Parts: sequence; C-alpha cells; structure tokens
Amino acid sequence: MESKGWKAYAVAMSLVVGAFFFSPDEGWTPVIWQVLVGWAGAAAVIAGIRIHRPPAPAAWYLFAAGVFLNSSGILVAQISAVYFKFSLPPTPADLFWLCVYPAVIAGLILLIVHRTARREWASLVDAMTISTGLGLLVWVFIIRPSFGTPELSAIGQATVVAYPIGDIVVLAMVVRLLIGSGARGTSYWVLGATVVAFLTGDMGWATTNQLGLTPGSHATHLLEMVFLVGFTLFGVAALHPSIRQVTESGPVRQARPSPALLLVLTAVSLIAPFILVLEVSRHHVEDGIAIAIGSVSLFLLVITRMAQLLREVEKQSEWLKELTQVDELTGLPNRRAWSAELPRAIERARRDGLPLSVAMIDLDHFKRFNDEYGHPAGDRLLKAASVGWLAQSRGVDQLARYGGEEFILLLPNTETPIAVDILARLRDATPLDQTFSAGVAMWDGTETSAELIIRADGALYQAKADGRNRTTIAVTPDPKVVRPDPGAARLTQVDDKHVSVDAAI
Ligand code: GH3
Ligand code: MG
Ligand code: MG
Repeated sequence: MESKGWKAYAVAMSLVVGAFFFSPDEGWTPVIWQVLVGWAGAAAVIAGIRIHRPPAPAAWYLFAAGVFLNSSGILVAQISAVYFKFSLPPTPADLFWLCVYPAVIAGLILLIVHRTARREWASLVDAMTISTGLGLLVWVFIIRPSFGTPELSAIGQATVVAYPIGDIVVLAMVVRLLIGSGARGTSYWVLGATVVAFLTGDMGWATTNQLGLTPGSHATHLLEMVFLVGFTLFGVAALHPSIRQVTESGPVRQARPSPALLLVLTAVSLIAPFILVLEVSRHHVEDGIAIAIGSVSLFLLVITRMAQLLREVEKQSEWLKELTQVDELTGLPNRRAWSAELPRAIERARRDGLPLSVAMIDLDHFKRFNDEYGHPAGDRLLKAASVGWLAQSRGVDQLARYGGEEFILLLPNTETPIAVDILARLRDATPLDQTFSAGVAMWDGTETSAELIIRADGALYQAKADGRNRTTIAVTPDPKVVRPDPGAARLTQVDDKHVSVDAAI
C-alpha cells in the first residue's frame, strides 16, 4: 500500500495539472488551482517523510517549506493585485516566491553532503565551470538588461535580479547533484527533474520578459504548468520508496570526465568568447567586464581541473610503478627492478674501480616444506625470511625476489670473502631452521650483467649438487681479481671454477 501511494498521487495530479490547461485565464479559479497543486505537493513531501523516514529529513522539510511558500505566493500575488493594486516589484508575493531559493539550495546541499562519502573536488569544479558559463549567459541576456529599467526602484531591481541569481545557484547545486557520485534511484532522478522543471519555468518567464513578449493564454498556461509539474514532482520524489536511497553514497566518481561531460565543459568554457564575438560583431561591447571576469574564472577552473587530473595521473603512475617493480608477497624489489639496477651498479663499479658481487640464493627442499606445512605456511616463511635477510644486509645491498623461492643479492663494493660472511649472517637469520644454498660471483671487471648472473647461477647449481646448505663461489680466471680468503679452513676447492663454503663447518 505504502509503495503504491506515489503512483496514485502521480496519476491524480497529472489529471489535475493537465486539466489546468483549460482553466480560465482570469479570476480566482486558476489561482486557487495552482495554489492547491502546490500545497498538495508540500503535503505529499511531508507524507513521504512520515511514511519512509528518509535520512536527512531536514532536506525534505526544506523542500516542503519552499514548495508551500512558493505556491502560496501565487495567492498573495492575487490578493495584493486585487485589493492593494500592487503591480511593480517588489510585491509581497516576491517575498514568498523567492523563499523557494534558500530552501531548495539548503536542501540540495544537505542531500549532496549526505551522498558524498569523500570530498569530490572534480565534481565541484565541474559544477562551478558549468554554472559560471551559464551564469555569464544569464547575466548578459537577463540580469544586466533589467538594470536601468526606469520605472523600478532600487529594491525593485534587486528583486527582479534575485530570481536569475537564485536560479544560477540552484543550477550549480543540481549540476553538482547530477554529476557527483552516489546512488541513483527513481527518487533521485525525479528530484533532479523537479529542479530542472523550476529552472526551465523561471528561464521561460525571464526570456519572455526580456524579449518584451506578452505570452498568450495558452503560453501562459503552459508556463504555469511547468511550475505545477515541479510542485507535483517534489511530492512524487518524496512518496517514492527510493527516497531513502537519495542520501546513499556510491563509488567515488572517476576523476576523468566522461566524453559527454567533456563536451559540456568545452561548450560552457567557450560561452565567454562566444558572447564577446557576438558583441564585437554588433560593434558594441556592453559586457566587457562581465565577459573578462567569466573568462578568467572559466580559465582558472579549467586549469584547476587539469591540475587535479595531473595529480590523479601521477598517483596512478606511481601505483603502476610499484606494481611493476615490487614483489607482492615479500614487498622486496622484483626481478625486473633488480635486473634494471645491476647494469647501473656495474657501471659505478667500473668508474670507481671498486669490486662488486652478486649472490643467488635458493631455499633448500622448499617443495618439501610446502608439502609438509601447506602453501600458506610456505608464503609466511618466504615473508619472514625476507624480513630477516633484509635486517642482516647492509643499506647499500639490494635484496630482491628473483622468482619463487629464489632470491638475489647485489653487493656493491664487496669482495667474495665479505659476501660469504654476509651470506653466513643471512643463513643464521633464516627462520624455522630452513636452509638455503647460495652461489656468489664477483664481477670480473669486463663481463656483462648477464654473464655475471650466469656465473652466480652456476655457483648456486654447484652448491645444490654438493649437498645444499652451503655457499659456493664462482672463481674467476684472473687470480688478481678474486681473492677468496686462502686461510679459511671452511673453503673447499670444488673444481677450477668453484670454491665451496660449507655452512655446517
Ligand atoms: P631445491 O633444494 O632443489 O631447491 O628444492 P626445492 O623444492 O626448493 O626446489 P623446486 O624448484 O623443486 O621447488 C621449488 C618450490 O618452491 C616449488 C614451489 O612449491 C615452491 N614455491 C615457489 N614459489 C612459492 C611461493 O610463492 N609460495 C610458496 N609457498 N611456495 C613457493
Ligand atoms: Mg629450492
Ligand atoms: Mg628454485
């Protein structure tokens, strides 16, 4: 029953509003008709609040108050015209009519604040851009021409321009509501349509006034019906059960504007130069200052938007860089990042005449560990080992995950005996009594990074072949370059290419 109420109301009011087209032009009948439609709208909003208990009810009470006062203004206008002969603004009716602006603006702000989980600069800047562009149009064609209307007092002129100014602010709010993030149910769309109906009606009146037209009976009825539709749609928006979703936040909007939005932003940004060209072609620039202010504002807004996008791109590229260079499990540099670093390290070693070593590390029987304790436990061990090893290596060393349970260590300014010592420390820091085999190769002064890695890998292979849990050094042919500590008892000559350090000794 509750959820059908909005349909009954919508159907009934469509008939009432549609029939208004045939109401008489003069007298109390059309006045009472319009006022009752407005009051019904306000009552429907209150009923919707009572039935559905939406979050941020204050926003909806404000809408109800705005609709009530605005429609009551029609009655006040008739009374003051008939009994007090008010005709030129400001009339008491203007006070009632203008009330709709602060009420709708405050209500929309409340809803937007509720809908927005995180601050959305992009939506705000876009809304400001669109409102500035259209605002300039309204200023040039509607607000400024009404100045200097000789028969109006200063307050009268202020009253007349208060409408289009209110419209511009409401427009900014509804644009922000429509392009920002948040749930988009029926009630949301109906609310958007309501506000757009009011703005259209206002612009309709303003345009006919500016052009000095006196709309005929049909046109007047149609214009008045736009407002009646607006009053009614407020009620439909509140009676629809999706009123509760209007305040729901949604996924944050992408910083990148959609093609349609981009088109709109481009079009409104061109309004200022377009008006300038129009006035120049008439050989009379009347709105120079306004056009200049509009151009400067639009220019700054576009630059702000671009700066936001640029920051977003920077953030994303940083994230992408991290994704391509960091191993997800251990947080260590991955093979790609490490491999890019090695040629630079070799270049530095060549320039400074310093030694450089590379150690390749592979956990022993890790498949067995996984089989025994499970893959997640294996993952945890890989993480813990990385943390332990990182703590044992020096700041200049670069540990990376080479792949699977294989790691690689770049040791600048390091000869093999020091590398062997560092690996012994790493061995002690390996958690859960897990062992590893390592192959160390010191740069021979001429070889490429690929050749150096191949030698370290060969030494690792040898360490595995010799029984694991050991460090094997790849001996370079030039004895002046490689000086494995000859006094160390733990060193075993494996062959003419490798010297092994047994961790068990
Ligand atoms: P070896 O002593 O000869 O190195 O024996 P191994 O079992 O360590 O070597 P093998 O190459 O046969 O198997 C490597 C295993 O490492 C296989 C795979 O289950 C395990 N492994 C590789 N990457 C990961 C990982 O990211 N997480 C876990 N939990 N295990 C991994
Ligand atoms: Mg292994
Ligand atoms: Mg392996």
